[in-house]
Amino acid sequence: MRRSAAATAIAVVVAVTTLATARPAAAAPTTVCVVPLGKFDAKLVPIIQRGIAYIYGFETRLLPARAMPAAAFYKPRKRWRADAILSFLNDSVLPGSGCSIVMGFTREDISTTKPPFEDWGILGLGQIGGTASVVSSFRASRGVARSKAAMRTVKVVNHELGHVLGMDHGGEPGCVMNDAAGTVKTIDKEPGLLCPNERSFVEDHHEIVIPTHTRFEWPLVLSP
Ligand SMILES: [Zn+2]
Repeated sequence: MRRSAAATAIAVVVAVTTLATARPAAAAPTTVCVVPLGKFDAKLVPIIQRGIAYIYGFETRLLPARAMPAAAFYKPRKRWRADAILSFLNDSVLPGSGCSIVMGFTREDISTTKPPFEDWGILGLGQIGGTASVVSSFRASRGVARSKAAMRTVKVVNHELGHVLGMDHGGEPGCVMNDAAGTVKTIDKEPGLLCPNERSFVEDHHEIVIPTHTRFEWPLVLSP
């Protein structure tokens, strides 16, 4: 009995050591931290956390709400520059947080430069291969029922996370990384699922296994 227990203990130690060698600590982004910024829709916060876990299998953590960074304010349109928000998240929120990725979440209108437009309103922005993203529910919520706004927001969240995980636009219509081309109607038609090539990309580049779904079980994410 005692001998057997000792053998088991040794086996466990060996297994843990092997795992630690095979998987360097920095290999995979696994914790996505959501940080509410300025005015935000509190009811959507747990929904986007579940949406991230559903598609990517990542752990999520809610950080304390922060004011919008003053440097991001774009006076001519009274809205907030998403690029400046990403800088704020990387410089002032991420360090020491223990998070792999930080996602700002707000219901303030956000914008970026999209030539030829100096200031173009957007649903979200994610750094390709970086550590920060920001999503606004402002445009996704206008004139639609809460459930539709929530579904749109979850889709945008997972699209922006896809950028952070290294994916650019492209692929088939209906895939998460398909470009919304500036319209929420495109997003409404999408199922919100990663296409097989997108899932392979994330799994290969981050040495992780993420969930496979054949259809989006929205009730699990919207109202479990
Ligand atoms: Zn995009």
